[in-house]
Amino acid sequence: MFKQIPPIGLFVLWLLLLTSTIFFSEWVQIKSHESSIEPSFENLTTTNAASKPKAQVHPEKAVPEDIIKYIFVKKGDTLMKLLVSNGVDKNQAANLITSLKSIYELRSLPIGHRLKISFAANSYNANHKYNKVKDFSFLKSFNQEVFTSRKPSGTFKSEIMIKSFETEDVFIRGKITTSLYEAAANQRTPIKLLMELIRIFSFDVDFQREIQKGDTFSILFKRHLNSDGKSVHNDKIEWAKLTLRDKHIEYARYTTTANNYTDYYNREGKSVKKTLMRTPVDGAKLTSRYGKRKHPILGFTKMHRGVDFAAPKGTPIMAAGDGVIEALGRKGNYGKYIRIRHNSTYKTAYAHLSKYKRGLKRGKRVKQGGIIGYVGSTGRSTGPHLHYEVIKNGKKTNPLSVRLPAGDALKNDDLKTFLSHFVSIDHRIIKAKAN
Ligand SMILES: [Zn+2]
Repeated sequence: MFKQIPPIGLFVLWLLLLTSTIFFSEWVQIKSHESSIEPSFENLTTTNAASKPKAQVHPEKAVPEDIIKYIFVKKGDTLMKLLVSNGVDKNQAANLITSLKSIYELRSLPIGHRLKISFAANSYNANHKYNKVKDFSFLKSFNQEVFTSRKPSGTFKSEIMIKSFETEDVFIRGKITTSLYEAAANQRTPIKLLMELIRIFSFDVDFQREIQKGDTFSILFKRHLNSDGKSVHNDKIEWAKLTLRDKHIEYARYTTTANNYTDYYNREGKSVKKTLMRTPVDGAKLTSRYGKRKHPILGFTKMHRGVDFAAPKGTPIMAAGDGVIEALGRKGNYGKYIRIRHNSTYKTAYAHLSKYKRGLKRGKRVKQGGIIGYVGSTGRSTGPHLHYEVIKNGKKTNPLSVRLPAGDALKNDDLKTFLSHFVSIDHRIIKAKAN
């Protein structure tokens, strides 16, 4: 059990702090990336700002400066609409979009994304829509910029520019005194990586009952730095270890050469994936404190025959394994209920849901880790929680005592490559620890 969990408010505050840190570093990243093209934000305008060209800042300069506009994608925006409303005529916008489409799937322009348009200064007329676009660009990812520019012929050319950053290995170790989240926060673990960490171990660990004071987690990941040494991006976790009182679990990320499949594997080369997950709910959202006060967080007993995960209403519930929906609907004290048949031996059941995933029906196939519904308090329940049952050969069984077959194992060349990969990871951990 978690002991002396801090008030949920503290956790929320921490989340906010972390998110703002992440946001800040992203902003720095964007700025620094842009600065290689554009030395300043002098001409920064947004869709909301008046689309007037900026007055000459340096009158002594003979060459007029390009007019640069920054546009933020809002809900319902199309690129055509954005370009036209910012002074690009339809014909030009259509040509630009056609060129862009040759290298970028346009449907995926995310809301909030920042786009940059440069107009040739001498062609810019704030009152007309005949402004000559010089170039158009945005970041596709932290190190990839989509860049469309006008050729002398008047047509557009699009390309993806790759920016390279310095990288460093980061090793983080946290001792769990109150909760995994606190431990991660104390060690300044990025929230995205904490989520990944929990997801990796959700197959092996019951995050509601198995984490105790004194347990530790460690991770290794690569960080990308800009020229000021500021972090601009963290890669995925490359190695993770969880040391519980009676369990040591360790995985390294590896992509098979045979079929280019990426997963986490233990030192024997066995996949992290098991038939069923022990924590089939977003483990970062578990609220033990609530449970202590109002709802007994029950483990498996003769009477209870399932385990409870206390989490806020609306927390996503995942299918514990691949399978077929066998039951979906209200079921007495269980409230909104789903049961999945995984194979001839195993079934899992989920109760007290607030709602089901849209479109989910009896007979539908589900994938392990796929969302099937959301935590609620329907049926006989004193507060929002997931009641989870593992049914083995028709008998409700303690999920913690179920011995699940290990995941797929690496073979032949892949196993050899992976084992030497693990040796290099070990070296990197020693080096990163020393820093
Ligand atoms: Zn229960």
